[in-house]
Amino acid sequence: MAVNPLYNAQFIDHAQHPDYKYQMDDPTMSHEGINPSCGDELTFSVRLADDGTIEEAAFVGSGCAISQASADMMSDLMVDKTPQEAIELCELFKRMIRGEETDVEMLEEQLDEAAMLRDIAHMPARVKCAELAWRTLQEMLEENGVAGTMTATVNAACDHDHAHDGEDA
Ligand SMILES: [Zn+2]
Repeated sequence: MAVNPLYNAQFIDHAQHPDYKYQMDDPTMSHEGINPSCGDELTFSVRLADDGTIEEAAFVGSGCAISQASADMMSDLMVDKTPQEAIELCELFKRMIRGEETDVEMLEEQLDEAAMLRDIAHMPARVKCAELAWRTLQEMLEENGVAGTMTATVNAACDHDHAHDGEDA
């Protein structure tokens, strides 16, 4: 069998020494994702800054090298992005990993190191491993309603005394 080019030093470093794998203090939201086909599971957390951008991203969990490295690369990419930008990057990553988007130059510009995972498109059994972190982040942002509107988080943090109900739609 040929040596898989995916397993280069950069990839191995993300898998074995992830910078973003830790329990975050006081996250704005957390979400658990599992990939039963491989046994990967991770809980992804983000903290949003006052301007709504992702201030901090981190994950905990266990799984194969691809799921771990992918989560670490994604965390690095998401810092300072808005939730809407984050969702668009998740969509792009999923198109790449399914082999639907193959413009390498654009992928490297948009996804940075995570673009190296594009070869997984040729390894169908591992697609769900690579997608797990991205799917989990996207679900979390969509379920919490923070993309497109900041109403949910603004209200959650609101401690002044105006009425939140009774506003005409
Ligand atoms: Zn896996």
